Amino acid sequence: MAKLTFKGGIHPHEGKELTKDKPIREVLPKGDLVYPMSQHIGAPATPIVAVGDHVLAGQKIAEAQGFVSAPVYATVSGTVKAIEKRRVVTGNLVESIIVENDGNYEEVEYPAVKPLEELTTEEKINMIREAGIVGMGGAGFPTAVKLSPKEPEKIEYIIANCSECEPYLTSDYRRMKENPDLLLQGLRIAVGLFPNAKGILAIEDNKQDVIDMFKEMVRDDDKILVKELMTKYPEGAERMLIYACTGREINSSQLPADAGCIVDNVDTLVAVGRAVTEGKPLMERIVTITGEAINDPCNFKVRIGTNYAELIEEAGGFKTEPAKIISGGPMMGFAIFDTNVPTTKTASAMTCLTDAEVEWLAPTACINCAKCVEACPEHLVPKNLADAVENDDEERFLKEYGMECCECGCCSFVCPAKRHLTQQIKGMRKIQLGKRAAAAKK
Ligand code: SF4
Ligand code: SF4
Repeated sequence: MAKLTFKGGIHPHEGKELTKDKPIREVLPKGDLVYPMSQHIGAPATPIVAVGDHVLAGQKIAEAQGFVSAPVYATVSGTVKAIEKRRVVTGNLVESIIVENDGNYEEVEYPAVKPLEELTTEEKINMIREAGIVGMGGAGFPTAVKLSPKEPEKIEYIIANCSECEPYLTSDYRRMKENPDLLLQGLRIAVGLFPNAKGILAIEDNKQDVIDMFKEMVRDDDKILVKELMTKYPEGAERMLIYACTGREINSSQLPADAGCIVDNVDTLVAVGRAVTEGKPLMERIVTITGEAINDPCNFKVRIGTNYAELIEEAGGFKTEPAKIISGGPMMGFAIFDTNVPTTKTASAMTCLTDAEVEWLAPTACINCAKCVEACPEHLVPKNLADAVENDDEERFLKEYGMECCECGCCSFVCPAKRHLTQQIKGMRKIQLGKRAAAAKK
């Protein structure tokens, strides 16, 4: 059977062989835990603890501010040491709560939860909101908001994004392989929030073992479908995924709900299941520490707030001086200059690349080969967009639909002239998004 996919895209070096057979290993934090108040899209949370307070794992330490926001929970027991600005992976300084870990891992007593069948939709969504769950694939959009569309009866598919198309990353793969029941539990709960929805497990065909396992597990469940996707980057980008699974197209000003879909990441759905069945907040996630510069690339179960440098140490440290350290994977991630930063709800990986894995070629002039056009999954002309940016021509950038770019990096990847196409387009998009936001405020 033909595999589901989209037009365009690329086939970068996968790099997944480094960690795909490494079972998830739990790592307990050694040093202080740092909890940034902004680990999500929307208003930052506000601390509700003070310096000197003793906190328990699972205790709420910061309250959400408004509808599009999310609370933050302590993931260890200990003492609040400081509330101050700390550096995060993006390099920004963000207001954070710092907890000195007492090493006892004492946990709060979670309130008893009603059996699933007795909970109303509203109660389930409130539990998801209260648990502080956000899109853990990187976007960080509060999940309760995503699961509360204006017209719930029009939602036909909840798509579990199991594609993990980003090179090097295997945290979702290991989660699916080791805890398939937890993913299915979360997906079934999400599907149950909508009267007309079915669930889709959308998995790339480089994970055939997981595809076969889920097919067997949902054989008698007509509400859950397994869709086999062609392994191609960026198959997991929301718009590509929706197209591959349903044939429906949306643009940058539309939401997946406009195509009758909601897309959720693997770990996000696992967290949804735990919040609704156990009343547990979001406290952990799976993180891949990888790249040829790492001694022993691994998949770790991590308490959110743990320092990345500790994870690198747990993975045996650096084998060789990394030429580039990336938060996330090489296509959508971004280079960082300091590993002494906390893991957050959206932290999926740290990829440490050697000289041989990084291309150092300087950009040259465009040779009009059109390879970037062929690769672009949004059917754009990246070379024209980059030209518009170089000429500071905002009007042309908008006319050429620059705002439809999903910043996937395919154009830069294929460009023989090594032009920094994505970087340039991303920069202009940021300026335009800032202008839109300022105009909306007026
Ligand atoms: S223009 Fe944007 S969407 Fe198209 S390939 Fe480049 S980064 Fe991806
Ligand atoms: S791929 Fe690079 S060289 Fe080829 S047309 Fe696009 S920008 Fe020019």
